[in-house]
Amino acid sequence: MKNLECQFGSNAQGKMVSALKRLGFDKVFDTNTGADFTIMEEASEFIERIKNGGTLPMATSCCPAWVKFLEMNYPEIIPNLSTCKSPHQMFGAIIKSYYAEKMGIDPSKIYVVSVMPCVAKKYERTREGMQSTGYDDVDAVITTRELARMIKSAHIEFVELEDEEFDNPMGEATGAGAIFGVTGGVMEAALRTASELIDGKTLEKLEFEEVRGKKGIKKATLNIAGKEVRVAVVSGLSNAREIAEEIRDGKADFDFVEVMACPGGCILGGGQPIKSSKTKMSVDIWKKRSDSIYDIDEKSTLRKSHENPYLKMAYEEYLGKPGEHRAHELLHTTYSKKEKYNI
Ligand code: SF4
Repeated sequence: MKNLECQFGSNAQGKMVSALKRLGFDKVFDTNTGADFTIMEEASEFIERIKNGGTLPMATSCCPAWVKFLEMNYPEIIPNLSTCKSPHQMFGAIIKSYYAEKMGIDPSKIYVVSVMPCVAKKYERTREGMQSTGYDDVDAVITTRELARMIKSAHIEFVELEDEEFDNPMGEATGAGAIFGVTGGVMEAALRTASELIDGKTLEKLEFEEVRGKKGIKKATLNIAGKEVRVAVVSGLSNAREIAEEIRDGKADFDFVEVMACPGGCILGGGQPIKSSKTKMSVDIWKKRSDSIYDIDEKSTLRKSHENPYLKMAYEEYLGKPGEHRAHELLHTTYSKKEKYNI
C-alpha cells in the first residue's frame, strides 16, 4: 500500500511497523495480541466470578485513568475491578518472560517501548505490580502523536513506506483484539470468548450491536451461552462516576461493565493525532477510526481471542490455565486506595 494518503481512519499498521524498524527497533509486535491475552484472562475471570459467587458487577481494568479515578474516588468498590493488567502491560510481561525464554534472550537486555493512544499509560507502567518478571513489564511509553513527531524528525517519508509485517512469534492478533480501542470493543471481544468458553459452542453471530456506538452509557441484557447477562458500556469520566455510584450504592442493574475514561474510547485518547488546521472541522474522527477498526475485525481470519494460535501456544507451553499460577502472577495486578491530589 504505497502512497497512501494518511487520513484519519486509514489503517497505517504496516507503515508503522516499517517506520519503527527504521527508527531502530529490533522487533515490532502488535499490542492487539496483548489485547487477546487480556480478553482471555478477563473473560475467564468473569466466568469464574459468576460460577463461584465472586464480586459483581465486574468492571474492566484496561483503562488506567478509570482505575486511578476509582482508587481515588470510590475505593470501596475496588473489589469490583477485574484484576487483569491492560494489554500492553500483559504483553510486556510476556515478552520479558515467555518470549525471552523461548528465544534465549536475557530479559535484562530487552527494552520494551509501548506505542499508545494514551497519556495515562505513561503513569500506568510505573504502578506497583507492573514488574512481575523482576523487571519493569514496559520500559517506556510513547504516544502515537509523539511517534508521528519522531518519524518526522527522522525525515522518514511515512506515506512512501512499504508495509511490513509484525515480528513472530506473537505477531498475529485477532479481530477481537483490534476492536479493543473503541468503546464497547472490550465488552464485545470478552463476550465472544466468554460465550464459547462457557458452552463450547461456536457463536453464530459475532457482532454484539447492542454495545456498539458512541453513546456514553449503553446497557443491554444479552443471551450468553443460554444465560442472561446484563452488561453496561461506559465512556467519559462523568459517565464513569454515575456508574461507580450505582455500584457503590448497590443500584447497579448489570453484571459486567466496560469503562473507558475517554469519550468514545481509546481511538479518541489524549495521545492520539489531533485535527490540524488543514482538516475540515466537519470530519468525524471517531466515526472514521471506529469504522476502520470494525473493518479490520470483519476482514480478520480469526475474530475470537481464544482462537489466536500464539495465545494457545503460550498457555500450553508456559502460562498454564488463564487466571492460574504463572498466568496470574504475570498478567494480573492489585489495587489500593489512592489519595486525591491537592490542587
Ligand atoms: S480510554 Fe483514554 S485514558 Fe483510558 S486507556 Fe484509552 S486512551 Fe487511555
